[in-house]
Amino acid sequence: MELIFDQGAPGRRGSTLPRLDVPEDLSSIPPRLRRRQPPELPELSELEVIRHYTNLSRRNLGLDTNFYPLGSCTMKYNPAFHEELARLPGFAELHPLLPQLRHGGALTQGALAVIYETQELLAKLTGFAEFTTQPLAGAHGELTGVMLIAAYFRSRSERGRRVMLIPDAAHGTNPASAAMAGFQCRVVATDAEGNVDLNDLRAKLTPEVAGLMLTAPNTLGLFDPGVRTICELVHAAGGLVYCDGANFNALLGRARPAELGFDLMHLNLHKSFAAPHGGGGPGSGPVGVCEKLRRFLPVSRIRKRDDGIYFLEYDCPDSIGYIAPFYGNFGVILKAYAYLLTLGDEGVRRVGANAVLNANYVRVRLHDLYPEPYSRYCLHECVLSARPFTQYGVHALDLAKGLIDRGFHPPTMYFPLLVPEALMIEPTETESKAELDRFIAAMRELAELARTRPEVLKMAPETTPVGRLDETLAARKPELAAR
Ligand SMILES: *Cc1c(COP(=O)(O)O)cnc(C)c1O
Repeated sequence: MELIFDQGAPGRRGSTLPRLDVPEDLSSIPPRLRRRQPPELPELSELEVIRHYTNLSRRNLGLDTNFYPLGSCTMKYNPAFHEELARLPGFAELHPLLPQLRHGGALTQGALAVIYETQELLAKLTGFAEFTTQPLAGAHGELTGVMLIAAYFRSRSERGRRVMLIPDAAHGTNPASAAMAGFQCRVVATDAEGNVDLNDLRAKLTPEVAGLMLTAPNTLGLFDPGVRTICELVHAAGGLVYCDGANFNALLGRARPAELGFDLMHLNLHKSFAAPHGGGGPGSGPVGVCEKLRRFLPVSRIRKRDDGIYFLEYDCPDSIGYIAPFYGNFGVILKAYAYLLTLGDEGVRRVGANAVLNANYVRVRLHDLYPEPYSRYCLHECVLSARPFTQYGVHALDLAKGLIDRGFHPPTMYFPLLVPEALMIEPTETESKAELDRFIAAMRELAELARTRPEVLKMAPETTPVGRLDETLAARKPELAAR
């Protein structure tokens, strides 16, 4: 397909501007900022532009076109209704510098109410005292969380606590966030059942430990039955326990992390709460904290006066400061708010239950061919292994490419690192049994192909505009021009 820059012809136009109805006066623009030559932009008709981008979009495997069981990402359906709400002019056209009420304006009250109410709902679902919706991604939430932990120990003059414990199953963002906040990371092992190795944890709980970052349910898709004990051990050693809540879909309406013993956590509104992951656009990784960490939360904090007026509070002397200016991800928060109100308490409880049911259905229908490293019920996702096929020279990557040819987005591969040839499948609650059955049939067909004609799988994908790419080379030496 031609790049858009190679298309069109001089003089073609895709837009019609209204006639200039004010005097043409450029004198206020300094000469050095004035363009001397027209920009070298492609000249195309509107139809050409529409066709170009529509055709490009059809080359994508997206949630709106295909089943998307990408583990740990909770690619659930993002209701179209939420997009309508986010486009309401009263929300979409809000300027971040509009006055708050205390300056005599009332235009931001609705938006502040949405953020405040969302934070309250998240606090209710997780059991924490207060949430901030400022962080713009899950990893950003983690960074906020570990900065809160650092601030807590600074306030207690416990400056020696410089170590963050992180299980070997953790998402890579955990150690990255801890390191950015100035902590040294130390790894805690996983035991033979897929839980935190309690003996290893005990051995590593030295006086320098500030805390533990624990993913719950963990990245193997398993609920660690030792979670209360783990929190007690870390607390007894003077540390805090951070919950990576990216996998919260499994617990929605069923368990509150604060009651399990965690001191703080982040959620991913663009995972568990049906907001889109957004092609690089803003996400939302709100952070909830227990009472003793509240005073360190980032500014501004959204407060509600007794007379029902909302305002942004900046007077928080112990705060870690700004994490992100302006709540620029407001649309994401709004979608999560709509999601929670639409579902209600009972609907939220069904999300977790059906997500777990779907994952276990896939697991049980596939584990004869794709062994599970730990044989037990999973939560919202199952981790299986493609190891039996390596004897035919077929790897998880080849099976993933085969899935693309059959109209499925591949599951997460080679993560968690603990499981060789890992395929991490997260169907989510929004898929029907019929769709899961189609996926299971494709996985079973691919297993047969791997055994009987492995060379065919090495050619996949064959239905895409470009075939098998050298992914390392594509990342290191991207060739972006059209061929
Ligand atoms: C997705 C994820 C994160 C990071 O969230 P982002 O919004 O992608 O930054 C962290 N931990 C786990 C377990 C995740 O699945």
